Amino acid sequence: MTLLDGKKTSEAIQQEIAAEVAEIKANGGKVPHLAAILVGNDGGSVTYVNNKVLACEKVGFGSTLVRYEDDVTEEELLNKIQELNESKEVDGFIVQLPLPKHINTQKVLEAVDPKKDVDGFHPANVGRMVAGLSSFLPATPYGILQLIERYNIETNGKHCVVIGRSNIVGSPMSILMAKAAYPGNATVTLCHRNTIDLAYYTRQADIIIAAVGIPGLITADMVKEGAVVIDVGTTRVPDATRKSGYRLRGDVDFDNVAPKCSYITPVPGGVGPLTIAMLLKNTLRAARNEVYA
Ligand code: NAD
Repeated sequence: MTLLDGKKTSEAIQQEIAAEVAEIKANGGKVPHLAAILVGNDGGSVTYVNNKVLACEKVGFGSTLVRYEDDVTEEELLNKIQELNESKEVDGFIVQLPLPKHINTQKVLEAVDPKKDVDGFHPANVGRMVAGLSSFLPATPYGILQLIERYNIETNGKHCVVIGRSNIVGSPMSILMAKAAYPGNATVTLCHRNTIDLAYYTRQADIIIAAVGIPGLITADMVKEGAVVIDVGTTRVPDATRKSGYRLRGDVDFDNVAPKCSYITPVPGGVGPLTIAMLLKNTLRAARNEVYA
């Protein structure tokens, strides 16, 4: 069994990005710049956004954090998005989700210029991805592709069972794994909350990608010997022994599933760390105008 080390892979990707930024600087080019819009004070969102800004500094990007209180109007937000769309300085930006209920999230996401949409959530980027055109890929699926590629995991003709159909992980993952490319060329089954007899599908899987948010949902009896298991789930469960009072648990019953696997991601330290690295990668691609060239 090989552990898919997301932390190490993420660090390697960030080092590659830092080297590219150093080269851009040496050649007198424009340093990539990521902006993030954060609404409110939700603990999780604040941490995520701060980590994204810190990661920018580490690789040598410029960064801007735009913060609003919970009561920001949709109009104010849309005006700021327009400003960032037109900014010569900002190459890419994100709007941290979730947004407060009085704001129409879809309207906000669609206001972002697809050329600066480094989260890959704009329908133009989703459409381009589905059509097999170059696009900004959402960071988590993009990170999973990197893990598969950098560990040389065979996907051609394999049966990949994706569990969860969210717009940010499960659905794009199912499309990418079926693409005529590497990683890809897999036969894909997409399971979700309406799936009857989930185990029937997972037992046939050469590759399982779980993105649900139910700790320990995937048990050893649901996994074929030699399977590749990628666990996207991150649920905070109370843990009095930790300073934070909680720990992260994945969708997979790791201790019992791992011995059956050829490859498996730990939680934490698997898919999670790659998400930020791929956001940086998308920002670099935006700065280089690679996607919409
Ligand atoms: P979500 O919360 O939007 O939806 C969950 C999905 O699971 C739905 O599509 C639903 O149909 C499916 N589902 C629910 N119960 C099920 C069941 N019993 N059997 C099969 N499918 C079931 O999904 P999300 O936003 O993609 O998040 C999923 C998990 O991944 C969460 O734990 C989240 O925290 C985590 N996540 C981690 C990262 C990261 O590590 N960087 C990024 C995104 C999401």
